[in-house]
Amino acid sequence: MRFEFATATRIVFGEGTAATLPELARSFGARPLVVTGASTERAAWLVAAFEAETFSVSGEPTVELVRAGARRVNDAACDVVLAMGGGSAIDAGKAIAAIATNGGEPLEFLEVVGNGRAIAVQPLPFIAVPTTAGTGSEVTRNAVLGSAEHGVKASLRSPMMLPRVALVDPELTYGLPPAVTAYTGLDALTQLIEPYVSGRANPLVDAICVDGIRHVAGALRRAYHNGADQDARCDMALASLFGGLALANAGLGVVHGFAAPLGGSWKAPHGALCAALLPHGMAANVAALRARAPRHPALERYTAIARLLTGLNEASAEDGIDWVRALCVDLNVPPLRAWGITEADLPGIVEKAARASSMQANPLQLTGEELLLVATAAR
Ligand SMILES: [Zn+2]
Repeated sequence: MRFEFATATRIVFGEGTAATLPELARSFGARPLVVTGASTERAAWLVAAFEAETFSVSGEPTVELVRAGARRVNDAACDVVLAMGGGSAIDAGKAIAAIATNGGEPLEFLEVVGNGRAIAVQPLPFIAVPTTAGTGSEVTRNAVLGSAEHGVKASLRSPMMLPRVALVDPELTYGLPPAVTAYTGLDALTQLIEPYVSGRANPLVDAICVDGIRHVAGALRRAYHNGADQDARCDMALASLFGGLALANAGLGVVHGFAAPLGGSWKAPHGALCAALLPHGMAANVAALRARAPRHPALERYTAIARLLTGLNEASAEDGIDWVRALCVDLNVPPLRAWGITEADLPGIVEKAARASSMQANPLQLTGEELLLVATAAR
């Protein structure tokens, strides 16, 4: 056996750990830039503790936003970047920390639509503090940016972009509204299922995914119906962190293959897209595996997932899909058409999804026809 598992991020997890942030940030620099989501309230005490520069991000980050953030870092001579927020704020902070020391132009380094140059200079120290439980971006080495000009999303990616510290305090998620809890929680579940069935999984990824899936199965419904359920919030924060570690080491699959082009052209939260697609992506993979590769190890993994989700030892892969479908109904996940995606859009989406980087880690190659079925069912 041979495998690699990489993370250079120091992980600090637990209720109340956010109180240590001023001291933690000071160990990296004297002038932090604090990146927040649309609401700056939650980080107000932190900003006050430092008289820090702040930079707020509404919506998912773009090339233009990161360019502005990097300029801000350099104008104010900031020496550490701390992002406190959802995946958008964390990806923005991660990208700003890297672009600020690498010449200031995100398009130089962006994959697919940019020049794709490698990040050469060490980014500023970056501390990630998630306030949602979903993206796992606090332990990944990429930042997803939209480009208004190109109408797609693409990644800045470098091992140097791994956050120096991921501070995960479940208390920060207590106030999340139900819809955000549902979308981000189902993104976390997707990010545990897709790496687990990908061809790049390894024993350490497996252990993380199995434990993470079990936590989501026990906690997501509870967190959705009662946001004040502290144990459920803690389990979801852990599952999200595990999903980030898993995807950074084993890749994703068909659901994220669709989420990339959809998120680039429609204003829908990433988690909502993944949630709408998840049961249909699982169903397509299981059906294709049964038809074309009945002895493929991924099929056994779908069975294992079903048993973790349902808690039943005799559950089949299909029972797992049904469980996820029922969860999406319970959590009021809207179909893709709710975000304005029409039937006429689907062929174009399928074409882009087939080329998406996440699709390469799917356990088997789905045909254009199979992909169209996924998109049609999710719509
Ligand atoms: Zn995701």
